[in-house]
Amino acid sequence: MKIDKNTVVTMNYELRLNDDPEVVDSGENGEFNFLFGHGNLIPGLEKAILGLKKGIDREVTVQPAEGYGVRDESKIIGMPRSSLPKDFTVEIGLPLELEDQNGHSFPVWIAGVQGDDVVLDGNHPLAGDVLHFSVQILNVRAATKDELSHGHVHGPGGHPH
Ligand code: ZN
Repeated sequence: MKIDKNTVVTMNYELRLNDDPEVVDSGENGEFNFLFGHGNLIPGLEKAILGLKKGIDREVTVQPAEGYGVRDESKIIGMPRSSLPKDFTVEIGLPLELEDQNGHSFPVWIAGVQGDDVVLDGNHPLAGDVLHFSVQILNVRAATKDELSHGHVHGPGGHPH
């Protein structure tokens, strides 16, 4: 079976950034599986593994636009520290959820402190990075009806219910 929309893929992967040989993220021993074609992977990686079969190894390079986005300096905002809860500990790199005027939540990451402001960055921490994935396809199977209606994988490595 080939990787296609509505298949469940199990794969090992290693992620390296730009020209750095250090592995910053990985999934080993088949612990990472996902429902293909439901937005569970970044677009560039999803495109690159479409049609692959069990047993295939692949080196995939993903540019920022198809990865975690191009850095946008206008997404960096300052928020008065006084608007945060008193017991809130500012920790660089910590993700937060903010709400826009329409009540839609969006993620930001704490980038630093400037005077009385906490600097929040709406760019994903990996925005602007070129992503190098080494992937190894361990298994490809058809998703079950329940998995399709839930949009995620069940069983080992998936949702426990
Ligand atoms: Zn479920």
